[in-house]
Amino acid sequence: MLTKSLSALKHISRGVRHFNIRTPSFVPAETSTSSCIDLGVDESIYNEDHTQLRQALRKIIEKEINPHVDQWESEKQFPAHKVFKLLGDAGFLGVTKPKEYGGLGLDYSYGVAVAEELGNINCVGIPMAIGVQTDMATPALARFGSDKLKEEFLVPAIAGDMVSCIGVSESGAGSDVASIRTTAVKKEGDYIINGGKMWITNGCQADWMCLLANTGEGPSHQNKSLVILPMNLPGIHVARNIDKLGCHSSDTAEIYFEDVRVPQSHLIGEEGMGFTYQMLQFQEERLWGCAAALLPMQKIIRQTAEYSGHRIAFGRPILANQTVHFKLAELESEVECYRSLLYRTVAMYVEGNDVTKFASMCKLKGGRLSRQVSDSCLQFWGGMGFTQDVLVSRFYRDCRVMSIGGGADEVMLSIICKYMNILPNLPKQKT
Ligand SMILES: Cc1cc2nc3c(=O)[nH]c(=O)nc-3n(C[C@H](O)[C@H](O)[C@H](O)COP(=O)(O)OP(=O)(O)OC[C@H]3O[C@@H](n4cnc5c(N)ncnc54)[C@H](O)[C@@H]3O)c2cc1C
Repeated sequence: MLTKSLSALKHISRGVRHFNIRTPSFVPAETSTSSCIDLGVDESIYNEDHTQLRQALRKIIEKEINPHVDQWESEKQFPAHKVFKLLGDAGFLGVTKPKEYGGLGLDYSYGVAVAEELGNINCVGIPMAIGVQTDMATPALARFGSDKLKEEFLVPAIAGDMVSCIGVSESGAGSDVASIRTTAVKKEGDYIINGGKMWITNGCQADWMCLLANTGEGPSHQNKSLVILPMNLPGIHVARNIDKLGCHSSDTAEIYFEDVRVPQSHLIGEEGMGFTYQMLQFQEERLWGCAAALLPMQKIIRQTAEYSGHRIAFGRPILANQTVHFKLAELESEVECYRSLLYRTVAMYVEGNDVTKFASMCKLKGGRLSRQVSDSCLQFWGGMGFTQDVLVSRFYRDCRVMSIGGGADEVMLSIICKYMNILPNLPKQKT
């Protein structure tokens, strides 16, 4: 387990900040063969233990994940069971989960440290799939599930023996979660599930789904429940792996349910509380996604500085043009502002505060900034930036999802408006 590997890692020295982006010759001072970047220790929320945790994870990424990313991207799926087992064995799938279920029982800052380090993977699809397991499909189960349910589904998810997915969105309901149509109706000790889910990350490979379904007729915020659904039950049809713009190595399923029977004991917590549990679960999902977006942005700024420092046009490196190096400095500054907002939000969350407003601000800012960074950087690569051969084009495609998945930018703006007391209460149109 990680606690053991952590103590074994005590000899590893603290990371050192590398400020090698600009040299007088516009050639990077150090050319690293590593596929990862190390930004050193940020004392605001991290300490030596976080650093060791990240270094242990970085080794797995360097050795076991990054060498295969190109292949998995072209195959449009990565082997989730194999990768999750590696991560589970090392303790990375249950950093914030209770020890009695195989987790490390650490506070959320450690979860954020892991999410941030996963940003060293050379694509967004694989970190996103891991985040679904650790921070999207399992938080409600860990918090409100029965002991039996946790033994059966949380323990193997933390160990990396099972792959999970989260089933909220549907073809007719994404941003408006309250309007989902899937039903779970009680019958003879079971729930009978009918309906379908759309955009389900890990859905082609998952062993179980944390399903949001309507279990009653009441108001739409009080008639929903979360149910653990084993994916091998009769009546579950995985219709397709959706062909997407980016995040190719992550499978995204469209799934139908036809009279699927699942025991009522698979209900998480109280019936009718599903919407509330899911909204709580969204907080961790959003903070997780925000942390995972940091390194991709800094990696492409760094790579763009390196590339444009070598590439000559009109007798000088592209980077020597003020419009180019000023733009990279601006982007780097924006990323550091974003990092500060995120760390401040995480610190408040660890202290037990409701951070819905700040997590929404982070998500909004992260989505927009990752689009801005990847688009601006891609420009400085010229034709090379328009090929599949460079990381910047992959991130340009992959990062786009951040303004859509897990709540679109406009949904984040609505939440922020609500907290600012400026959201008009407009009557809903009948559908
Ligand atoms: C790669 C990927 C992976 C995903 N993984 C999962 C998963 O694992 N599980 C899961 O349940 N879901 C998943 N999703 C679904 C995701 O959460 C939804 O796509 C997202 O919530 C948006 O819903 P929608 O696509 O139905 O867009 P819609 O709800 O149709 O909205 C379309 C657009 O309308 C605009 N809009 C929406 N509401 C407002 C408003 N109030 N004011 C102004 N404009 C508005 C926004 O710009 C939005 O992008 C995934 C999506 C993607 C793309």
